[in-house]
Amino acid sequence: MTERVIPIAEARYRAGVPHIPEETSPPVGLLSDRLGRRLHDLRISVTDRCNFRCTYCMPKSIFGSDYAFLPQSSLLSFEEIARIARIFVAHGVEKLRLTGGEPLLRKDLDVLIGMRTQLRTPDDQPVDLTLTTNGTLLPRMAHRLRQAGLTRLTVSLDAIDEQVFRQMNDVDFAVSSVLSGIAAAEQAGFSPIKVNMVVQKGVNDHQILPMARHFRHSGHILRFIEFMDVGASNGWRLDDVLPARDILERIASEFPIEPVEPNYTGEVAERWRYCDGSGEIGVIASVTQAFCRDCTRARLSTEGKLFTCLFATEGHDLKALLRGDFSDTQAEAAIAHIWQGRSDRYSELRSSETVGLRKIEMSYIGG
Ligand code: SAM
Repeated sequence: MTERVIPIAEARYRAGVPHIPEETSPPVGLLSDRLGRRLHDLRISVTDRCNFRCTYCMPKSIFGSDYAFLPQSSLLSFEEIARIARIFVAHGVEKLRLTGGEPLLRKDLDVLIGMRTQLRTPDDQPVDLTLTTNGTLLPRMAHRLRQAGLTRLTVSLDAIDEQVFRQMNDVDFAVSSVLSGIAAAEQAGFSPIKVNMVVQKGVNDHQILPMARHFRHSGHILRFIEFMDVGASNGWRLDDVLPARDILERIASEFPIEPVEPNYTGEVAERWRYCDGSGEIGVIASVTQAFCRDCTRARLSTEGKLFTCLFATEGHDLKALLRGDFSDTQAEAAIAHIWQGRSDRYSELRSSETVGLRKIEMSYIGG
């Protein structure tokens, strides 16, 4: 009998080594959890580092110059990421999102994107691969990303006012550094680009209309996201959340809008369009209209821990499987076992008690 060595999981966030069922059966491209939700999306964090210090995500008080980011040796290699992605696709995942931290800080990311060609769904379709970025590195990366096969892009931008934006990213990045990134992405052929704005009451809610005015007629889709209680370091309070209904009311006060049918069941953003044909917007009401019952997403951290909820306090150490010399069949069975046992629905259960849980930081788990 060969002896398997399982590396000890990094103690940063609790993550047990997955159980490997004795009986294994090949993936059939359809996996449901305990609440009947299928596995459809995988978000992959490629780095826990970011060049922004957004006050609501990576506040300087925690992520300061002495913060210990993951060492290079802890990161999954591109080959390891591609192997995990292949297993998830075999289990029915059709959509992959690269994120972070700031994913464009990961060296040679275009090489990972190029590996997408190795991935085909069980009915032989290509997978949908997309990336979320703060946009600042797009001027030098957009073309390479496009050449490598990336087709869709989401850029985050929380304000169009210079002072508000600089205060929010807290490292003095100018609005123009993101707008240049969006322009470079357009030039490289990305269209439409989704632009995500996290709305924090009293911080940038007065930017809703200026942002709407800016992106109307641009062909890009501006999406307003309710501020969430992710992680344990952003000092979230329910009072800081501007409900999606109020966001839509503000937009409608200046620009008449009408609802648009979802692209697919379970789409997180509620879609709206300007009645004058000047574009589409979306709202993501993750706090006031929780959508756990449609949540088909799993998340893979930079060091290979799997989380089945954005608000998880514990994960599953897939890197231990990868580096522990297990076969694909065993890893497939372990992942199936994790998803089939999933019953997370944090946003539906959110209360004053859950807010204080030691949830995994978004910069680590992947946004
Ligand atoms: N650095 C990339 C970016 O800026 O898009 C990717 C990672 S970032 C964590 C992903 C997204 O999560 C961003 O749009 C960010 O604004 C959003 N985000 C971070 N913390 C959030 C929070 N507490 N509530 C809502 N959205 C949040």
